[in-house]
This record gives sequence, C-alpha cells and structure tokens, in this order.
Amino acid sequence: MTVLAVIEHDRGAMTGASLGVMTAARNLAKQMGTKFEAVTIGANADRLSETISNFGATTVHQAHNPMLIDYGPEAWGESLAQVARKTSPTVVIGTGTERGHEVVAQAAARLDLPAAMNCIEFDKNFDGTQPLNVTRTRWGGSLLEQAAIDAPIKLVTLANHVVEPQEELGSTPATVSTIDVQLDDSVAQSFVQDRVERVAGVTLATSPVVVSGGRGVGSAEAFAPLEELASLLNGVVGCSRAVTNNGWRNHTDQVGQTGTRIAPDIYIACGISGAIQHWVGAMASKNILAINTDAQANIVTKAGYAVIGDLHKVVPAISAEIRRRRGK
Ligand SMILES: Cc1cc2nc3c(=O)[nH]c(=O)nc-3n(C[C@H](O)[C@H](O)[C@H](O)COP(=O)(O)OP(=O)(O)OC[C@H]3O[C@@H](n4cnc5c(N)ncnc54)[C@H](O)[C@@H]3O)c2cc1C
Repeated sequence: MTVLAVIEHDRGAMTGASLGVMTAARNLAKQMGTKFEAVTIGANADRLSETISNFGATTVHQAHNPMLIDYGPEAWGESLAQVARKTSPTVVIGTGTERGHEVVAQAAARLDLPAAMNCIEFDKNFDGTQPLNVTRTRWGGSLLEQAAIDAPIKLVTLANHVVEPQEELGSTPATVSTIDVQLDDSVAQSFVQDRVERVAGVTLATSPVVVSGGRGVGSAEAFAPLEELASLLNGVVGCSRAVTNNGWRNHTDQVGQTGTRIAPDIYIACGISGAIQHWVGAMASKNILAINTDAQANIVTKAGYAVIGDLHKVVPAISAEIRRRRGK
C-alpha cells in the first residue's frame, strides 16, 4: 500500500505544482500509515531525487526510455501506466495542471481505471481499504462535487494551489529505482515542437504581480500602458478570453478556466468584468485591485481594492505616481 506522486517537470526542471502534490501525497500516506513514493518520467529528471527526498518520499521510481527526452502526453501517460502496474500504488496523485490532467487521464485510459481531476480534499478517514471519497471542483470552480473512487488504483489530480508545499523535517535520501518502460511509435503522437520564452524566469503562473487587461482595454495597442505598469512592478501582463478571442494577445497570456490559474501577491484587473470562467483562474490571488468603470462589475465586488474609473486614465496615473515616488 503506497501513495505515488507524479512529478511534473519541464526537461528536468520541477514545476511548483509538484511541490503541493508531494506534500498532499505525504499527508495522505501518513494518514494511511504507509509510505509516499514518487515517479519521474525521463532520465533528465533523475536529478530531482534530492528535492523529492526533502519532501519525505521513501522511493523515487525513475521511468527511463530514449523517447522520453521532452514532454508528450501519450508517452508520459503510458510510462505512468507501466510504473503503476509494476508498483501497484493505492493512490496516484498528479498535478492539477493541463499536463498533469493529460498524463493522469492517459494513464487511466491505458489502465482502464477511473480518474478524478482537480481534487481539493481527500477523505480524512481513508485508510487504503475502502473507496476514496474526494471533493473536487467542477464547472470551472462553480461546483464542488463529492465523488467516491472505487478502483484498485485510485487516480487523481490535485487542484493547483490548494496545498501549501512543505518539506519534511529530518527526511532521509529516497531509494532510487529505475524502471525501463517499453514505448513504441504509437505513443509519439503529440510532442513539443516549439517554445516561446516569456520574460526571463517569470511566467504568468508564478509571477508575484500580474497586470491583466480585458475587453475594456479596447485594442492590442492599448495594452502598452499595462505593459509599462507590469514592468515597473516587475510583473507580467495577463488578459481575459475576450482579449484572446479578439486576437489582441496570445492565449498564453489568458487567465482563467481555459487559460492559466494564477496566485500572485497582487492581481491588477483592468477592464475585466470577472466572469466565473475568468474568476476561477484569478481567485487564488492574495490581493486584487480592480480598475473598472462599472462599480457593480463582478470583479469589483470581489476585489479587496477597486478604482472606479477609465483604465486609460487610471493605469498611466498609477505608473506616473510610481515613477514620481522613485524619483524617475
Ligand atoms: C467554456 C468557457 C470557458 C471560458 N474560459 C475563460 C477563461 O479562461 N478566461 C476568461 O477570461 N474568460 C473565459 N471565458 C469567457 C468569459 O465567460 C467572459 O466572456 C470573459 O471573461 C469576458 O472578458 P472581459 O471581462 O474582458 O469582457 P467583458 O465581460 O465584456 O467585460 C469588460 C469590462 O470592462 C469594463 N470596461 C469597459 N471599458 C472600460 C474602461 N475604459 N475602463 C475600465 N473598465 C472598462 C466593463 O465595465 C466590463 O466590466 C470562458 C467562457 C466559456 C463559455
């Protein structure tokens, strides 16, 4: 009986979501009176064993195959399925990210088992012998569903940002087990072709400051003052789907249910109404400043701070004040 954490990484660099997954896996394993193990996919992730050990894993299964040089949902899903068959974990926890969902869904289909995505809570009385009751978010976070997973291996993903990552005090190095997975050309259906670099080292998902624009911005060019404010605050620019639908910005900038879920220290939402599909991507923000002409806009009623006014005047005024205070 074990709990297996699926480590998400990008060519050997662990993602933040994996830290929460390891913490959740360790907590669940302790509750079950068992061990937490982890799986890394691809030899370029072998170096992550030390970090994984720091989170208290007793074993790291390293799935190896020459095809595993970069992310591919089918190849990763098949690798996870083979590791699960070999190690028979009671619970498998993946990241609640697009990649995490893809990999766990691929593995579940290959194992012919059910999977529950975006879990926010696991049954506090689960001891490994009964179905696993979970609470998970559905419909973009507007619905909480109670589900019971009755399967020999319970496959789940953990919704992003619901568990605060915590290393295990006094942990010891994990045992490393190498598993040579068998992959054929049938799993090489999707693979990474190109990568577009954002601001070096800062991503929409991890930036502590996000300045986001919605339909109220009005055009692609009118994002320039938002870019300037983001740059003054060492942040990044995000946007709503109305903006990506209009072709003003790339989908990689979109916050929300079908975009990126963010948790910055401050989210500055300019000309965004705060529709539920946008809100689920922004609601984990620690502070929200809404700039909107409509005092009744959903985002305004939810924000800790709001300026009711025209963003085309308010945003440049904030930047000017920052520059003035910095003496520039
Ligand atoms: C399945 C599905 C998935 C979706 N996924 C997402 C998603 O991931 N992310 C997302 O964002 N949306 C998503 N949507 C779309 C979502 O429902 C909304 O349509 C969208 O978020 C609206 O974008 P908006 O707030 O920019 O535009 P609007 O709702 O049109 O709001 C514009 C706001 O700008 C304000 N405004 C106008 N002019 C100014 C000005 N000069 N100064 C200040 N304020 C001004 C207005 O008062 C208004 O509040 C999804 C929808 C569906 C059906």
